Amino acid sequence: LRMFPYDDTSFTLIDVIEKYPYQFILLFLFLGAIFMSILRIQKLNHQLKTHAQEIERFNATLEEEVKERTHELTLLNTKLKELANTDELTKIHNRRHFLQLASFYFHSAKRHRLPLYILSLDIDFFKHVNDTHGHHVGDDVLKLFCTTVTKSLRKDDLFGRIGGEEFSICVQNTPLEGILILAEKIRASVEESVYKKGHDLLIRITVSIGISGITPSDETIFDIMKRSDDALYIAKESGRNQVRVQ
Ligand code: GH3
Ligand code: MG
Ligand code: MG
Repeated sequence: LRMFPYDDTSFTLIDVIEKYPYQFILLFLFLGAIFMSILRIQKLNHQLKTHAQEIERFNATLEEEVKERTHELTLLNTKLKELANTDELTKIHNRRHFLQLASFYFHSAKRHRLPLYILSLDIDFFKHVNDTHGHHVGDDVLKLFCTTVTKSLRKDDLFGRIGGEEFSICVQNTPLEGILILAEKIRASVEESVYKKGHDLLIRITVSIGISGITPSDETIFDIMKRSDDALYIAKESGRNQVRVQ
């Protein structure tokens, strides 16, 4: 402190260190410990940063993968729905899906008092096609039949395969005159269509069609379908390749 009587005594840092060696050792140890701690903390910080970057990268990849999987699942779901609703051979509505949609049309037509018609179609003598040319050719003829019929239909007309070579069409908001024109157009287009295979195999088919429309006492779509089936039966009995209304 250079106070009297030591105010003119000179001393160096070495003198101080020699005077307080333990304190200096403690001070150095303390500073050393702080320095080591700082180094350790820096190292840990660096490791933490690296791990955080890794986690960020992993999260980004994971998000991308989840997005991809969700997209795949959505596509798969759509495909499954399509498979569950579509007839495998002809790609038109299967029986279950046709009935589901036609029932919806039925209740809507009943509530709004609008016309609704069912056309029952059955290919004439189809067994003969199978017996003569084989089941494979019969399948191809069924496909051609559906393509031919679909060409005469509008987007909101329902066309379904009810069983083997029996089909149904459900048409809404069209009066009987329009339905008769449609049925005749279908009958004629089927009669005109020709299945060709190779040079000399030509197969022609015809179709019989029964028609019935909604009545106030109908409670389900099956009430109309029962009558259109009866009309179809009459068309068959009357010589086939014709349209009948019940
Ligand atoms: P009709 O004029 O009285 O209707 O005579 P039809 O021979 O068409 O009637 P029938 O009900 O006796 O025969 C229907 C035939 O349809 C019998 C069956 O082998 C055939 N059939 C049903 N489903 C399929 C199919 O998916 N593929 C093929 N190739 N034939 C089928
Ligand atoms: Mg038939
Ligand atoms: Mg049949």
